[in-house]
Amino acid sequence: MNIDIIHKLVTYMDKVDAIVIGAGVVGLAVAAKLSQNLSNVLLVDKNSTFGEETSSRNSEVIHAGIYYPKGSLKAKLCVQGKEMLYQYCQQRHISHERIGKLLVAHNDAEEQYLKKTIETAKNNGVDDLVWLNKAEINKLEPELSATAALLSPSTGIINVHHYMQSLLAELEANQGLFVANSQMLNAKPCGKGFIVELFSGDEKIQLNCQYLINSAGLHSTDVANNIAGLPPHFIPQLHWCRGHYFSYSGVSPFKRLIYPIPEANGLGIHASLDVGGQLKFGPDTQYVDKLDYEVSEKLKTKFYQSVKLYFPAVELERLQPDYAGIRPKLQGPNDEFMDFTIQGESTHQLKGLINLFGIDSPGLTSSLAIAEYVNNMLDLAK
Ligand SMILES: Cc1cc2nc3c(=O)[nH]c(=O)nc-3n(C[C@H](O)[C@H](O)[C@H](O)COP(=O)(O)OP(=O)(O)OC[C@H]3O[C@@H](n4cnc5c(N)ncnc54)[C@H](O)[C@@H]3O)c2cc1C
Repeated sequence: MNIDIIHKLVTYMDKVDAIVIGAGVVGLAVAAKLSQNLSNVLLVDKNSTFGEETSSRNSEVIHAGIYYPKGSLKAKLCVQGKEMLYQYCQQRHISHERIGKLLVAHNDAEEQYLKKTIETAKNNGVDDLVWLNKAEINKLEPELSATAALLSPSTGIINVHHYMQSLLAELEANQGLFVANSQMLNAKPCGKGFIVELFSGDEKIQLNCQYLINSAGLHSTDVANNIAGLPPHFIPQLHWCRGHYFSYSGVSPFKRLIYPIPEANGLGIHASLDVGGQLKFGPDTQYVDKLDYEVSEKLKTKFYQSVKLYFPAVELERLQPDYAGIRPKLQGPNDEFMDFTIQGESTHQLKGLINLFGIDSPGLTSSLAIAEYVNNMLDLAK
């Protein structure tokens, strides 16, 4: 079916306006956005369907945008993307809920961190955080142990699969096309655009496009390395950082998301609910050098101990290894904060090419804002 589609494309139209590589939540959002302004947008993925990698292996949280440094792309695109995403979900009836989150402290040092967080959040335009004392926490979440907490009312949850289906439907309604089982092998500049070679089905095909968007997530640097004319010094080093989840059987003791104070490379082993009410704990952080999504039973004790700090009644036997996701991080194990990196012509001088690197959390929340940002970089804004 896919191969038929791509053959038709090559036979009748060997040139498309834009090729977007990677059908995760960001590639889908970018393709859907570009299809509002361009007639022929082609979205390709090497896997057998969309969203099989990081986009279906995350916490499904719509983040508020409270932690990121002022002025960073993560801060701007998260806050903007959050509002766009809530609106999109309402308009398109995508399962989501603005359930709120509690960021919890257990001692003076952590309470100081909460106070600083109020300022960081304000700098990012998030001014709805509410300070809660022990009694107030107890009223909202009786099973939660903390000396103080910040309530973030604008944090929510979303059914990501449902969201991705809706983006795909939007792309297709605008005459765009998604083709699975099609791996981008290489590209080279040609005239006013690029010739892109794909391995589609079981053969190699070549297509011309004016715009080329590299939204290949964990493989974005491999894709970039196969674009002729792109100077290697614009291709950053990507680190893969796995996060594991344990589900918690039975009824959830919490109504909201519960987050400890963030760690250096992640937001800490938090408690999150999906739209069906299933409670899970995670993710932790582990830098890895291969794409292996195993969740070892051996991690159970570590999870139990972390969770016990804010949920003393946690029961070991109710924790079950669930799934893992791998973050495409620019930040190595000992590095400071690294921002999303979105490079266009002004960086690398290749007209029509956009590379998206390091789209880790909050990439899901930011997806619609990233799409608009890419659209503006290509000067396609209507
Ligand atoms: C553990 C974890 C928890 C997270 N929690 C949250 C959260 O709660 N909230 C939030 O906002 N964000 C969260 N994130 C981040 C979020 O999941 C990602 O930012 C987002 O999914 C990235 O989407 P993407 O489309 O860039 O990448 P992906 O979903 O990885 O998609 C990239 C696609 O490119 C395809 N591809 C790669 N190479 C090629 C090629 N050569 N040819 C064709 N196709 C190719 C792949 O097959 C893949 O489908 C989390 C991430 C992780 C790992």
